[in-house]
Amino acid sequence: MTPVYAFKGQRVALFGLGGSGLATARALKAGGADVVSWDDNEGARTKALAEGLAVVDLAQVDFLNFVALILAPGVPLTHPEPHWTVKRAQVADIPVIGDIELFCRERARLAPDAPFVAITGTNGKSTTTALIAHVMKVAGFDVQMGGNIGTAILSLAPPASDRVHVIECSSYQIDLAPSLSPSVGILLNVTPDHLERHGVMENYAAVKERLVAKADHAIIGVDDDWCRAIAQRLKLPVTISVERVLPHGYSYEDGFILRNGARAFDLNGIGSLRGAHNGQNAAAAIAAAGALGVDDATILRGLKSFPGLAHRMEQVGRVGSVLFINDSKATNADATEKALLAIPRDIFWICGGVPKEGGIAPLAPLFGRVRAAFLIGQASEDFAKTLGPVPHRFCSDLDTAVQHATQAAQESGAEAPVVLLSPACASFDQYRNFELRGAHFRALVEQLPGFRPMAEV
Ligand code: ADP
Repeated sequence: MTPVYAFKGQRVALFGLGGSGLATARALKAGGADVVSWDDNEGARTKALAEGLAVVDLAQVDFLNFVALILAPGVPLTHPEPHWTVKRAQVADIPVIGDIELFCRERARLAPDAPFVAITGTNGKSTTTALIAHVMKVAGFDVQMGGNIGTAILSLAPPASDRVHVIECSSYQIDLAPSLSPSVGILLNVTPDHLERHGVMENYAAVKERLVAKADHAIIGVDDDWCRAIAQRLKLPVTISVERVLPHGYSYEDGFILRNGARAFDLNGIGSLRGAHNGQNAAAAIAAAGALGVDDATILRGLKSFPGLAHRMEQVGRVGSVLFINDSKATNADATEKALLAIPRDIFWICGGVPKEGGIAPLAPLFGRVRAAFLIGQASEDFAKTLGPVPHRFCSDLDTAVQHATQAAQESGAEAPVVLLSPACASFDQYRNFELRGAHFRALVEQLPGFRPMAEV
């Protein structure tokens, strides 16, 4: 845990007692703050009470009693409208901040030079965060990974000059961290997302910009207009493009990462980093590790041994020559497009669930890569219409789809067939979340006769 001393002997209000809220309350308390907490959810309150935290209905308390409001990132700060606690804090003229801000203040006090890599972007945050953490581990660093991925930042060990924090930041978290100034700041991309919470794109992009604006080393993907504009405003950022070769910075071509126009890292054959989108993630990781002094040979060892993240183009294993990939995280056509782009041919595609607007129509240009589709869930009828002449089969559930897709792949005569679960749909008609859907797929595949896990193939 990173105890937070910024409010020692002072009273703060904390709203939102989910995982990161609880961790924040503990860290503040350990640092001597008087924390008064609340959550609308009774279960969360009970848990906090059981830990000995002060749980008081903040609606009944005068905010002039507090020096700050600590907000969980899920609670609206600005849109659709500020949460009532935020309005009360504004009236009382006290700052509204989150756990990343508390970490930054503690870092400034304890070890301002402690290596701190912060990662954001609309897509690829978790993959890039996990990849950087992995590369830094391979390089022998004491690595603390968390934030929006896995462990809450204040549950990690405190910042220190011989320890690197690799932290995924959502736009909500950045919004609550005015003094964010990491040693390495990475902004991968900005595309429309979360506008219900940020209003218009300008606000969303401005929040993302704050992560790189004060970084010692700024690393920016420049394949969208928003990020290009941000890169132009900064002093000498490291830039990344997977769409064109940059004379300075990092690019991606034919599976290679180019540095200043010259081939520097070969990603071909690294199954966990398939596709141009992972080229962007890998280039960001290479630039970050380089900025922290890791040499190319060590970085390459890290890239090659990266196991990948569960449910994101996760290679589960093989049966004979058939490779099984779990991309359950792909809950929309955009994400599934990345999956189809990463596999050139002979895809036996399991898709369906609760469709998003537009369904899979945007994927039509990639249908040539699909040998057959296996449809599950609510979207089946609609997807069948869009697929048109592409062979497809109604399977209703994942058990049936895995069975038919495996058989079709085995009988196809293709050299390297791939059974791909990339639903392009939310899961909640059949599963509580995409993780459970992916775990079910993995379990079904592991039960297939002749299954060999990835480590053995
Ligand atoms: P996030 O944490 O930002 O949601 P993930 O690393 O979990 O991102 O990846 C989620 C999905 O987004 C992946 O399955 C892939 O389809 C897509 N993706 C990953 N990296 C990128 C990228 N750099 N650009 C665009 N899409 C990406």
